[in-house]
Amino acid sequence: MVSERVSDPLGGRIERLAGWLRSARSAVVFTGAGVSTESGIPDFRGPDGLWRRLDPANFTIRRYLEDPQVRRESWERFKTGGIYGQAEPNPAHRAIADLVRTGLVKWVITQNIDSLHQRAGTPPDRIIELHGNLRFAKCLGCRRRFEKAEALALPADPSDGVPRCPDCGGLLKSGTVSFGEPLPAEELARAEEAAQTSDLFIVVGSSLVVYPAAYLPLHALDAGATLVIINLGETPLDHLAHLVIPAPAGEVLPRVADLVLKHQT
Ligand code: NAD
Repeated sequence: MVSERVSDPLGGRIERLAGWLRSARSAVVFTGAGVSTESGIPDFRGPDGLWRRLDPANFTIRRYLEDPQVRRESWERFKTGGIYGQAEPNPAHRAIADLVRTGLVKWVITQNIDSLHQRAGTPPDRIIELHGNLRFAKCLGCRRRFEKAEALALPADPSDGVPRCPDCGGLLKSGTVSFGEPLPAEELARAEEAAQTSDLFIVVGSSLVVYPAAYLPLHALDAGATLVIINLGETPLDHLAHLVIPAPAGEVLPRVADLVLKHQT
């Protein structure tokens, strides 16, 4: 499939994807950090990725448990929304929302924590968030969930600025999944089912190196789905994909949605 990167012009690939979408019965869109870079949120592994500036070791659950300063900074990011706070949905999020609202895409599975799919208009019950989000906090002891406003109203512990659970005294943490933490079991099961029953699986802006999320395209392929990868950088699954589109998601998806939706009316 790598030769396709040079031989098939962008317009031709967009038309192929639009054609597949029109005839798909259970299309799934699977997004990573790359779908939000055009909203100004850096990805982790791209050329301007966060890992060039930040140390991933500070984002493990172990460091959160061990280091009060890491907890303080993490809770501060939760309070303000950090780099996610000011971001707005971009044309890629909006095109995906249009495709979901018209029933052409059944599920959006995302590794992102920025809530931009919801804010672009994708119905929340169609979104599976594999790595949590910043809309809630959780107790690491009893697993109770707290809406953000509820969590921020709790008294902060002076040692690290993070509240403790009023039920069990456990440590609170934002609702995102840190490195070393298990993925939420219910979301992972729903995502696996969506992948295994999809006939068209479209990856958007993911390096496909974070597991177990990156197994999902493989589940879809095993189930006989057509695999499409829209990603600026190469991924380890490019050679298995039926179509690779190495162009910005915010350019590709609105053109795909225009073609498909125009055809519908
Ligand atoms: P990643 O950083 O590993 O890879 C992003 C990929 O997107 C890269 O391969 C890059 O080439 C590509 N890309 C960047 N901009 C693009 C664009 N405009 N169009 C098409 N492709 C583009 O991201 P990942 O695979 O999602 O894994 C990183 C982890 O980091 C995820 O688990 C995610 O939870 C988390 N994360 C989330 C956010 C967010 O919520 N917005 C941001 C950074 C990281």
